Amino acid sequence: MPTAHIALGSNLGDRRATLASALAALAATPGIRVTAVSPVFETAPVGPPGQDDYLNAVAVLETDLLPHALLDTCLAIERAHGRVRSERWGPRTLDLDLLTYGATQLHDDRLTLPHPHMAERAFVMIPFAAVSPGHIMPDGRTAATTAASLDSTGVNPRADLALA
Ligand code: ADP
Ligand code: MG
Repeated sequence: MPTAHIALGSNLGDRRATLASALAALAATPGIRVTAVSPVFETAPVGPPGQDDYLNAVAVLETDLLPHALLDTCLAIERAHGRVRSERWGPRTLDLDLLTYGATQLHDDRLTLPHPHMAERAFVMIPFAAVSPGHIMPDGRTAATTAASLDSTGVNPRADLALA
């Protein structure tokens, strides 16, 4: 079964409860097995000013869902957690991004894999590298090397909010 990585983020409401519930929903989906969950990080928001801090984590899955079915699963779980799409990069109860799906590279109107911005985002790569340090990125570097090259300011471990 292919291995996939999903980024979880929340900056509205009970953020930890939302991430825990989203993870449980993923794990309860037929065709998905959650094999690892990163530590939780509290991170400064990117985008419009005045937003609250995020909680971010990365989950590792084994799945026999195809990429678009996995994306649809993520979007349905977002909706089930009350996500309303308003301004771009605005506050959200839950964001689930599909980061990787095996070695698949694809780009269409609904899905780009690997996620096009993951390598430049410390709030994604620091949790990612915690669970899959040896993962090879599209440029040939490891996830650990990529994460270490980013500015980790504003990405703070919250061991007290661990999901697993
Ligand atoms: P963002 O996560 O960039 O803040 P959204 O969560 O609002 O933005 O997602 C907008 C759209 O991005 C989704 O409806 C989805 O179709 C598309 N998309 C493209 N590639 C991906 C991916 N790898 N993971 C998640 N969504 C993606
Ligand atoms: Mg998203």
